[in-house]
Amino acid sequence: MAENYFKKYPNAEGFFNEYGGAFIPPVLEAEMKKISDAYHMISKSHNFISELRSIRKHYQGRPTPVYFCNRLSEKYGARIYLKREDLNHTGAHKLNHCMGEALLAKFLGKKKLIAETGAGQHGVALATAAAYFGLECEIHMGEVDMAKEHPNVVRMQILGATVVPVSHGLKTLKEAVDSAFGAYMQDPINSIYCIGSVVGPHPFPMMVRDFQRVVGIEAKEQFFEMTGELPDKVVACVGGGSNAMGIFSAFLHDEECELYGVEPGGLSLNLGEHAATMTLGKPGMIHGFKCYVLQDENGEPSPVYSVASGLDYPGVGPEHSMLKDLGKVNYVSINDKECIDAFYELSRLEGIIPALESSHAVAYALKLAQQEPQKSILVNLSGRGDKDIDFVLEKYGLPENRKDI
Ligand SMILES: *Cc1c(COP(=O)(O)O)cnc(C)c1O
Repeated sequence: MAENYFKKYPNAEGFFNEYGGAFIPPVLEAEMKKISDAYHMISKSHNFISELRSIRKHYQGRPTPVYFCNRLSEKYGARIYLKREDLNHTGAHKLNHCMGEALLAKFLGKKKLIAETGAGQHGVALATAAAYFGLECEIHMGEVDMAKEHPNVVRMQILGATVVPVSHGLKTLKEAVDSAFGAYMQDPINSIYCIGSVVGPHPFPMMVRDFQRVVGIEAKEQFFEMTGELPDKVVACVGGGSNAMGIFSAFLHDEECELYGVEPGGLSLNLGEHAATMTLGKPGMIHGFKCYVLQDENGEPSPVYSVASGLDYPGVGPEHSMLKDLGKVNYVSINDKECIDAFYELSRLEGIIPALESSHAVAYALKLAQQEPQKSILVNLSGRGDKDIDFVLEKYGLPENRKDI
């Protein structure tokens, strides 16, 4: 049944029921078809699979562990476990799909990897993959995010990537996607746009999900080995939705597991002050595919905001959009204040500084733990928080002299 699901979704045109597809200019249609055909071919090839396996083990440091949070569980009630994607090389789950995309790019004879980045994690992961495979790399990043995530900008440059500042609109993730897409359109033959999440036109939502499935496959096995059972609840943050699809994909057919996708509630649920796409959006179109979209009064993607730069996107993966309609996953939100509280709780009770994105998932797990203390909760800790420390300290201060938010 589980394998059938992955064959059925998406269909040959890239649809997850009504969501997904590829609504792109004709010049890109042929390129997307080439990428899709190549992916179908090599994803069945023994050489490709064994090269990817070897990279994951020897270069990325997989499998990442599952960790039982002793002190956090004691304080909040339930048994809380973390899938430690923060321990993946480069500090987040993103390298899982970047190494796959770069390996595919190499197979296609591409010279240059192009992408957008929000918090800079995807940019760093892709620049790392480009260095590994000897490819050029160009990363588009909003100027607001560049200021907020300065260490990641420097990392990308050290790794040899060109960082292109994006100065229009809100100067964050959506504009960076527009800019990267524009650059790719200039030369789709020699370059490839490596999308940073389970979004964009087909085949990206499918490929990125497939490359991230390793997270769920490992976590399920590890959790079972530790406890002899499956987790009652699995929690992951959702920006575009790649880390969440990675972990959820292993539990979609286990009726006893409840799945929670956590979106950024930001400052308030007023338009422009959050990025809770599934909670407050409507089906629409963005960046060449159909999904839930936060829209303004004209039906255009609305401005979004989150304290976590990696989550502020007004769209979301088409597969998540389908899973919401099917009722397979609960989509909820956590605001900035709850996120910062969880950031410090995990840091001080477990010695693990989480990314602000991942702190949203931790925050929701703490709520669940208090509501149902007899349950077990597995959280996908998508990344580490080193990139966020200066920003958090400056904006909010330490817990003992916290500035109001
Ligand atoms: C990019 C990022 C996210 C959000 O992306 P998804 O595609 O929703 O997973 C979450 N956590 C971290 C640490 C990230 O870098």
